[in-house]
Order: sequence, then structure tokens, then C-alpha cells
Amino acid sequence: PAPAPKNFIREIIDEDLRSGKHTTIVTRFPPEPNGYLHLGHAKSICLNFGLARDYGGSCHLRFDDTNPLKEEEEYVESIKADVRWLGFDWGEHLYYASNYFEQLYEHAVKLIKLDKAYVDSLSAEEIREHRGTLTQPGRNSPYRERGIEENLDLFARMRAGEFPDGAHVLRAKIDMKSANVVMRDPTLWRIRHAEHHRTGNKWCIYPMYDYTHCISDSIEGVTHSLCTLEFENNRELYDWVLDTLGLFHSRQYEFARLNMTYVVVSKRKLIQLVKEGYVRGWDDPRMPTLTGIRRRGYTPESIRMFIERIGLARSENVVEIEQLEACVREHLNDTAPRMMGVVKPLKVTIENYPEGQVEWFEFQNHPEKPEMGTRQVPFSRTLYIERDDFKEDAHRKWFRLAPGKEVRLRYAYYVTCKEVVKDASGEITELICTYDPQTRGGWSQDGRKVKGTLHWLSAAHAVPAEVRLYDRLFSVPNPLADKDKEFLELINPNALEIVHGFVEPALGQAEPGYRCQFERIGYFCCDPDSRPGKPVYNRTVGLKDTWAK
Ligand code: ATP
Ligand code: MG
Ligand code: MG
Repeated sequence: PAPAPKNFIREIIDEDLRSGKHTTIVTRFPPEPNGYLHLGHAKSICLNFGLARDYGGSCHLRFDDTNPLKEEEEYVESIKADVRWLGFDWGEHLYYASNYFEQLYEHAVKLIKLDKAYVDSLSAEEIREHRGTLTQPGRNSPYRERGIEENLDLFARMRAGEFPDGAHVLRAKIDMKSANVVMRDPTLWRIRHAEHHRTGNKWCIYPMYDYTHCISDSIEGVTHSLCTLEFENNRELYDWVLDTLGLFHSRQYEFARLNMTYVVVSKRKLIQLVKEGYVRGWDDPRMPTLTGIRRRGYTPESIRMFIERIGLARSENVVEIEQLEACVREHLNDTAPRMMGVVKPLKVTIENYPEGQVEWFEFQNHPEKPEMGTRQVPFSRTLYIERDDFKEDAHRKWFRLAPGKEVRLRYAYYVTCKEVVKDASGEITELICTYDPQTRGGWSQDGRKVKGTLHWLSAAHAVPAEVRLYDRLFSVPNPLADKDKEFLELINPNALEIVHGFVEPALGQAEPGYRCQFERIGYFCCDPDSRPGKPVYNRTVGLKDTWAK
């Protein structure tokens, strides 16, 4: 593969290796197991695992599981599956912040002994109020000058379960007047009588993110700890904890989070869509979760390509979803076999074709890739074509089927439309056509021009399929920016259209996850809802960018 493009993180690493600061690098991907991974996480995964791969270092998968109320084993398993699916492997480097609770506790005791931490007995509300604001300095808590012995005793009793939730917290003793609000005596531990998915009821106090993260990085020897820009202000605290405790110093660097048009990439918002029933679940193909877009038919290659193309920067921006769609289109154009599926069928009878006769035509699976082989496709007197390929009142530039017009049925014959059959309501129910037996294979010796080429299926052989036509999740590019409407009101009501079409016989047997192109329509993926003989296909993306703006 081509060498990865340079970015500011790679420049920092190059310099650290050149100067001898590090001889190898260790990165980590630290998800909190409180939801499914989304495309934003893919950026972090590709970055961290990609650096470890390219520099011959290692990347740890660490579950940042310090909040027992929101975390579940289901999420741990889904995260592992998603990282593997993206094509990355943590090897033996699987860690849990909850494995460090004892060490984190010991370090807190040490901070108390250094007079760098104290037990505060203000309520959460009072602590917030004492913290001040960006423009107003904070005030010291009346409990700030408790003696070291009293703090040690209270902290031990917090751990022992003597106090209810919220009675006390352990805070760092830094500076209530710091210009950086994060540094105004941040909370390090809080009481929470809740069962943890890994440690059970062993703990009733839990460490806070900022405190846990830097020490976890340090314990694991992480050299470059990469996080998104909203943690820029937290870096001072990250450094303070490691410096004060004299621990191995990992370095935090921030990069711009992924923001995209027409979706939301925030776990909190995605949880809301799932819990409130706006989508069918985390793996709903409309969702920007990895499990959702996988079900929709996206390939891991296309996502890695996308993340590489958007690059890595230090300033916030919004990536257009078209870029993601272009990547999957490009990868599937290369790899997906061409098949025939009729999404909105219209019956065609070839009146001069012998009743009961079946011919088999050889189709290439990929026009540019003979190595992908060929297959046999049946042709008979009654066919389905795409309803949109017929127009009763056609203009001059219409090259598809119309009354009196001749078109090519791909690889088969030329046919001409003779008659339009309608029902009582005026809806077209069938076309009566004739075929020219001299055009077998889809060309004629006399060289007459037929511009339109349609896909088709033999009605007797076609397999009925439910086809789910997916579109963008939101109707506006930035659903979170609307001042008058909540993002939930901006969900695209047409993001899923279910139609009943037909597919080639071979596609009736496909395994869930099978991807192909329905010629002339788009890329599709077989859905796990499929049953034998009753396939369900999801539209991954259309062939062209036809989104009406
Ligand atoms: P969200 O903000 O969606 O709730 P999170 O940051 O709380 O996600 P974590 O599980 O803590 O989710 O994230 C794990 C890692 O993924 C973190 O290092 C975080 O910086 C990174 N990450 C999360 N969202 C994005 C994003 N949109 N772009 C890039 N990296 C992200
Ligand atoms: Mg987080
Ligand atoms: Mg977050």
C-alpha cells in the first residue's frame, strides 16, 4: 500500500523517534462501553491502530469503564466486533480501566498524603456553584483545609460504603482561581452504589474520567495519547496528575473530531434515536454506527479509505457525506458482481416468443474483471423490467422503452413496445412487446442503432425480494444546528422506502452480508432478515450521486 500521508501527529512521532525520546510507540483506542461505535470512532480507530501498524508499535484496546450506570457487557462485545471488522487487531493488548481501580485508589491515597487531594462534603450543586465561571474565579470549599489524617479516614470510609451517593467526593487540591476551569479542584472520585459490569459490587466509589485516563495511559506505557479537541483544556490536568504522582509521562495530543453532514456522530444522540424508537436498533442501516453501515453494505475498506482521504487536522470541520458515499461506490465498483434486480417491476409479455420456451444467456459477473467469471440467466416470454424504464409520453431524448420504441434487453434481444395495458384506474399493468430473433445476444447484423439497454428478469424464474431503499438519516445537512427544531424533528421521513421487487434466481440463495450491484440501480447487500427463498436486500448507495439538493 501507498505510504500514509503525513500529518501533524506523524510529524510529532517522527521527531520523538529521531530525538530518541521514544524507541517505539504505544497508542490506544479507549472507548467507553456505553453504546455502539460510530463513524467518529472509526476515525480514532484508524488513526491509533494505523500509527501502531506503520511505526511497528502497538495499539491497545482499552475499555474506559468507570461509570457503572451506563456501561454494559453487550457494548464491550459489539466494540470488539466492530474494531475487528474494520480490520484491526489489538493482539494481547486488551485492557479495562476497571482493572486499575486498586492502583487508582492507591494513587489517590498518595495524593492525599502529598496534601494534593481532599474530601469535600459540599453537595454537587454547591460544588458547581463554588467552581465559578469562565469570567469569574472559583471559591475554596470550606472543607478544603481538612487535615491529611481526616481526609485519609474519610476516603477509606467512602470506599467502605459508609456514605450514601453524593455525601462526599475526593477532589484534587490545585487552584480555585485557575484561568482553566478544569483545574479548579476537579473531582477525582465519587460515591456511586451501583453494580459494575466487571467488578460487581466490589466498589462503591468510582474514579472520574480525567483522573483515570492519564493514569491508565501511564500504567500501559502509552507514548502518544490521542484525543479529540474538546479535551484540550483537560490536558493541563492530565499533566498535573502524572507530574504530581511522578508517574511515567504519556503525552496527550488533540485532533479534530469527525463531523459529518446528514448524520449525527454522537453516542448520546444515537442512543436517543434507538431508545426512543426512531430507528429499529443500533444496526439499523440508516444509522452511522459501524454495525448499521455494515448491515447497509458498507465495506471496511471503504471506511478506511474515507478516513484516510479526509485526513487529520487540528481544526474543526464538517465532512460531506458524499465523500463517504463516493468511497463505498468506488470500492464496490471494483469488487461487487453485477447482477440483475428489478426494484419496481413492470410486467412485459413478448407476444412472438414461444410460450414455455426458456433460453439461457451467459452474463459476465464483472465487465472489467473476467476472472470473476460468468453465470447463466434464463429468458422467457414473460419478463419484468423496471417501471421507471418505461414512459408512455416519451420525449425525443428518451432512450428507454416507450410505445413503438425499440430497446436492447441486456445480453438477450431487441424488443419493441407494441401495446400498453392498463387497469380500471389507468395504472399501467403490462406491456406487450415483440422481439427480433435476429438480435440474439443483444446486437444486430444490420447495425441498426438501439441506444437504450435495460435490465430484465424472467418472471417465471425471478425470486420475489423485499428491497429496502435507504437514504440519508436527516433531511438537512446539519440537524444539530437548527435553532427552531430539535434534531429528532429533522429525521428524513423518506430515509427508508420498502418496495417489493424481484431478483435473479442466484440472489434468492445469497447469505446475509452478500454484496452486489443491481445493474443500473445501485449497490445492494443481503440483509439478515432474509429467509430461504425470501431475500431482503438493502440499498447501500445508488450508482451515482443523485441526491436532490
Ligand atoms: P461521543 O462523543 O459520540 O459520545 P465519546 O467520545 O463519548 O463519543 P468514547 O467511547 O469515549 O466516546 O470514545 C472513544 C474514542 O473515540 C475517544 O478517544 C474519542 O476521542 C474518539 N471519538 C469519539 N467520537 C469521535 C469523533 N466524532 N471523531 C473522532 N474521534 C472520536
Ligand atoms: Mg468518552
Ligand atoms: Mg463524548
